[in-house]
Amino acid sequence: MMKKIIKLKTIINFTQTLTLLLCSTFTMAQSIPLNKLTGQFNEKNDSDFIALDSTILPVNKKGMYLQKEPAQQLIKAYNDFKKSYPDIPFIVVSATRNYTYQNGIWQRKWDALVPKLVEPQKIAKEILKLSSMPGTSRHHWGTDIDITSLSSEYFQKDKQGIILYQWLRENLPKYGFCQPFNDGRNGGYLPEEWHWSYKPIAKQYLVQYKTILETNPQTILQNLNFTGSDKITLESLVKEYVLTVNSECY
Ligand SMILES: [Zn+2]
Repeated sequence: MMKKIIKLKTIINFTQTLTLLLCSTFTMAQSIPLNKLTGQFNEKNDSDFIALDSTILPVNKKGMYLQKEPAQQLIKAYNDFKKSYPDIPFIVVSATRNYTYQNGIWQRKWDALVPKLVEPQKIAKEILKLSSMPGTSRHHWGTDIDITSLSSEYFQKDKQGIILYQWLRENLPKYGFCQPFNDGRNGGYLPEEWHWSYKPIAKQYLVQYKTILETNPQTILQNLNFTGSDKITLESLVKEYVLTVNSECY
């Protein structure tokens, strides 16, 4: 009898282990592909993404995309805002930017700063006040947007900007958005009142990015090839700028 019970327990243990193993394999299969984390894909050919030109959202340029769920939530927020403030601009000025696009921004800024700053680390730190290294931008994820203006002064001093920013802080969280680059973080980008992130999805990207940086950073770092990437403290910069975000976005 005793032997039988022990045998049964062994079978139960084995089954539990197998279930756990299967579950973790399933979770891994569900994980976000590396190229999506680093923006090395084309959002225009991706069925998870929708063209903002096909929605009612006002945009300042053609050809911008977002993942479908954040786009739907942003439309709801936009409609809500317009009910209260029909005359105040609520315009998407940036959405998904893939690696190639971000690399263009980086290269342009790098070239402009080389004559002034010379040293690669200094040039990188200057660009990083407001722009990401290719492969490290939250805009790669299709969950993040910039709204109306890329100037802190607009949100702090302009009458319409002040109203917009107050509304965004009070209301966007109801639609799932958080402000990753808020005031009072210790490091990372300067505050960006205009940049909002769809947390239910972006959080998954962030957690996975963080896990890789903490366990096997080379998995990501080896894919980051841009001007200066081999002459700066790449690993510590990537960790600082990707991970130093508002705790409400974690
Ligand atoms: Zn942004």
